[in-house]
Amino acid sequence: MKSSDYIALDEQYGAHNYHPLPVVISWASGVKVKDPDGKEYFDFLSAYSAVNQGHRHPKIIKALIDQANVCTLTSRAFHNDRMGYFLKKLCEFTGYENALPMNTGAEAVETGLKAARRWGVEVKGVKNGNQEIICADDNFHGRTLAAISMSNDPDSTVNYGPYVPGFVRVPYGNADAIAKAITPNTVAILVEPIQGEAGVVVPPAGYLKKIRELCDKNKILFIADEVQTGFCRTGKRFAWQHEGARPDIMCLGKALGGGVLPVSAIVADHAVMKVFTPGTHGSTFGGNPLSSAVAVAALEVLEDEKLDQNAEKLGKLFREELSKIKCAKIVTVRGMGLLNAVVFEKGFEAWNVCLALRDAGLLAKQTHGNIIRFAPPLVINEKELRDALAIIKSVFEKIA
Ligand SMILES: *Cc1c(COP(=O)(O)O)cnc(C)c1O
Repeated sequence: MKSSDYIALDEQYGAHNYHPLPVVISWASGVKVKDPDGKEYFDFLSAYSAVNQGHRHPKIIKALIDQANVCTLTSRAFHNDRMGYFLKKLCEFTGYENALPMNTGAEAVETGLKAARRWGVEVKGVKNGNQEIICADDNFHGRTLAAISMSNDPDSTVNYGPYVPGFVRVPYGNADAIAKAITPNTVAILVEPIQGEAGVVVPPAGYLKKIRELCDKNKILFIADEVQTGFCRTGKRFAWQHEGARPDIMCLGKALGGGVLPVSAIVADHAVMKVFTPGTHGSTFGGNPLSSAVAVAALEVLEDEKLDQNAEKLGKLFREELSKIKCAKIVTVRGMGLLNAVVFEKGFEAWNVCLALRDAGLLAKQTHGNIIRFAPPLVINEKELRDALAIIKSVFEKIA
């Protein structure tokens, strides 16, 4: 079958809830992927940062296969001999006392919201039903009803009502707006440390620190959605570490599964996590032995290969070199570590640029029409990055 045949199958039998770039991937390794014709591409999306460790990292694949040969799924009705190691490793990696495993990022966010609502009643003393959670304009927290109830993106929200109540949305990057929105019923403030889907929007310096201070002053939980920014992507293990603004709850996903399986979790200290008691939350697949084994390997790779340092170093180089490219349509280059974006002028359609990049051998996807996010696997080396930059330069310099 040719690429066009695979695309036709998707079109005929799938729901049309995505508009993918017309390219079919049938093989992947490290920072590269190939289509069925054998044409090779740099992967500069990394499955929205779920492939930080690179495609099919040998250590992660070995963990997957070894565990698949022993035991894969038990449910939480019984203990298994892998989940405990995973929770311990995740707590050590993040510096928190407890972890609660789920599967997708959206579920991690749901879990964080549920923890905060319960904590609000049981610890803070808010009347059940009155809990309020402050979130930010242009957020992306996933596709569940609670997550889209926080969203102001019409694509995510239109005709999905009634929406989950209890959310108060304020402009992103503005701590004063948060301060004004706080009431005695506020139980949590939820933000992404950098807004990925919004187009790699980096808030002003000090924003997270101010949120931390507001939370301390008003007895409110700070929830950081690090599903996309976490696990070394921005040059630190977690993006909040750039400001030392430690959240009460971190929502984690994507790269926790090492590019192999959906694995997500929240981490928090006992003072918060204790609100969950038997029967009050759960997931059939969360913490399963296969995911647990994969996640331990995924964390070890981040650590062993110091991918935070690589992201920091190569991210600087990437932004420096991108900024030198001569293209009148580019407004700005922004990002942290290896989570970066090129913003074109308003109204510019970046779709055709992504097609040209594809033809030149690099896969990236535009967001909001005029922004292209560049987020390669963090195992990329300097030579590969410079080769990729040469492709980007050749395409950008032809934009009229
Ligand atoms: C991707 C993402 C999610 C949702 O994760 P899924 O695994 O797609 O459910 C939530 N928050 C952020 C910041 C994300 O980037």
